[in-house]
Formats: sequence, structure tokens, C-alpha cells
Amino acid sequence: MSRYFSKKFSNLIPYAPGEQPKDRRYLKLNTNESPFPPSEKTVKSVEDRLNRLQLYPDPESTEIIWAMAGMLKVKPGQLMITNGSDEVLNLAFMAYADENAPLVMPDITYGFYTSVADFNRIPYEEIPLGEDLTINPEDYMGIGKTIVIPNPNAPTGIALTIEEIEKIVSSNPDNIVIIDEAYVDFGAESCIQLINKYDNLIVSQTFSKSRSLAGARLGVAIANEEIIKDLNTLRFASNPYNINSLSGAIAVAAAEDNEYYMNNCKIIQENREYASQQLKNLGFRVTDSRTNFIFAESDRISGEELYLRLKEEKGILIRHFNKERIKNFNRITIGTREQMETLITGIKELLDTIG
Ligand code: PMP
Repeated sequence: MSRYFSKKFSNLIPYAPGEQPKDRRYLKLNTNESPFPPSEKTVKSVEDRLNRLQLYPDPESTEIIWAMAGMLKVKPGQLMITNGSDEVLNLAFMAYADENAPLVMPDITYGFYTSVADFNRIPYEEIPLGEDLTINPEDYMGIGKTIVIPNPNAPTGIALTIEEIEKIVSSNPDNIVIIDEAYVDFGAESCIQLINKYDNLIVSQTFSKSRSLAGARLGVAIANEEIIKDLNTLRFASNPYNINSLSGAIAVAAAEDNEYYMNNCKIIQENREYASQQLKNLGFRVTDSRTNFIFAESDRISGEELYLRLKEEKGILIRHFNKERIKNFNRITIGTREQMETLITGIKELLDTIG
């Protein structure tokens, strides 16, 4: 830290993204990326933008919003396009959480929430998951604070139903509820349509997972028009050209190629069921994931040892969290069937060495 760094950030612990080691080629199953490339149409969409890069992009993201509104069956005024859905979270926390409306979130969840809260100096409270790692909706009912919940939750993969989400939203009419649907396309129910019934709901979604576009950094906030106006006020105050022209073209093409991406989601769900079953056959406990990852633990090998040995001996990267309640677990991204077979073979071979 330099001696000029503002004291207000001296205790800030930044979010630690999954490792991207360059020392060798790994089978990367640690950052929940899609194993499938973007569609051909999506890739081609940037070509005619390249020779127009001297121009600023559209700060309103009008074309993307129209394409997305059709796809998500909402009004254009109910959407804001962002630089990854992390930007939705940051803007929504800034807009709706402070000492009068502190944040509440599950104790085991997406690690970015606490770092963005700290960054914005927002107090927060973490509500413990149940023994079975599920969120108990009752814990959030009438809580009178700003709520953020990923649905499905990460890294557990477990989802709430729309009815449970609705109870949380309807019982907190004076507070904003942010539902982070980063993984919703892999088998959970989206609560987007509730934005027409409740003015205190913000849904965030991303192009990074189900749309194979983590590198393009695209996310979307879905909420009633007044909320979207608030969020745009903060966005224009901080980063008005948040979507670069290339990502803008990509987003439109991806929205138009929805079938390709939704078909990939189905394949990933099949591969998830295959890998979960194989792990269960090897004695792992696997949560009921509705995402593009599995969360698993075994009595035969510790979470840390499995993570380290897969990395060093097999060249397979998975995600281990050094957090008390979940340190025996690992989060494993679902890849192609072949990648899952390589993973299972690797794990079997490691377990054989233990006996
Ligand atoms: N929410 C959750 C639960 C996530 O796991 C992630 C990905 N790390 C995000 C949001 C943010 O994704 P992105 O910024 O790539 O849209």
C-alpha cells in the first residue's frame, strides 16, 4: 500500500477471483465458465464494429435493451445493461443500502457481496444457512433491511422456489430485495415477472454463464421503471459508457441466438446429472445443484487435498474455499461430457491411492 492510499480503504479486502495459473495447461473447472464457445452469429457480430471504434458506444444501450426486452418479456424501461452483473450489484448496493438500510445476505454465498459492501462502506449482516446448506426464507421475512440473495445460491447451487422468493419480497415492502440470478438458466425458476407486482425487487442476470460470454462482461438489471431510473442515475454519474461497442454488438447477437445458448444449458444440465451421479457412486455428498457447477464433499479425502492433488497431479482446477463450514467441499464447474469423464477418472485414481 502506498502512503497516499486513502485511509478509508486501508482495511478493504478485495474480492479474490478464481485462480488463472499460466504455468501449464489446466482443465479449468474453477470459475464457472461455459465449455461452449459463443455462437457463430455472436462472434461475427463484432466484425463491422471494429472499423467504427473511433466512435463512443451508445450510453443507453438501446439496441441491446430492445433485444433483451423481447427475450425476457419485459418492457425496455425495466432494463439496464451493465458491465458484467457485478456492476448491477455494485450500483444496487450503492443506491439502496446504507447504515439505515444495512445489507443482509446468506453467510455462505458469492464472496463479491461483502467486498462491494465494504468498498461502499455499507454495514452488513450474514444469515447462516441451515445445516443442509439451504436458505430458510423465513429468516428474511419482514427483516426490514436491504436483502441480497443469489438464486440459485453460490457456491451451494441450491435454489429457492418463486413462491419462497415472493414471500421474502412481499414481506419487506419498504426495502429493496436483490435476487442475483447469475445461474438461473441451468434449471431454477426466474422471478423476473414479479417485477410487475413488486416495486422493491431487483433481479440481476449475466451473459457470463449461460451465454458463454464471461469475457465480454455483460449483465442486466431487471426492475420496475423507477428503480431502473435510480440505477441509471448512479451509472451515468460513474461510468456512462459502461458497455463497449464490441460487447454491445455481441449482446444483441447473443439475445437473438437464444436457442443456441439455451440448448447448451440443457447439455450442461445433463452433464451435471452425469457428474453428480458419478461422484455419488464414489461416496461424495453432492448438493442439489441447479447451476453449472457441483458442490461436493467426501469423507475419504479432505476438500483441500482433493483440490491440491487434482491441480498438481492431474492438471485439473476446481475451486476450494477456505471457509470454516464449507472447507471440506469443492465447487466444480460443469464442462463437456468428455471433461467430466476426465474429472471423474482423475478423482477415482486419486481415491485409489488412498485406498
Ligand atoms: N453473481 C454470482 C452468484 C456469481 O457467481 C457471479 C460470477 N462470479 C456473478 C454474480 C458476476 O458475474 P458477472 O460479473 O460475470 O456477470
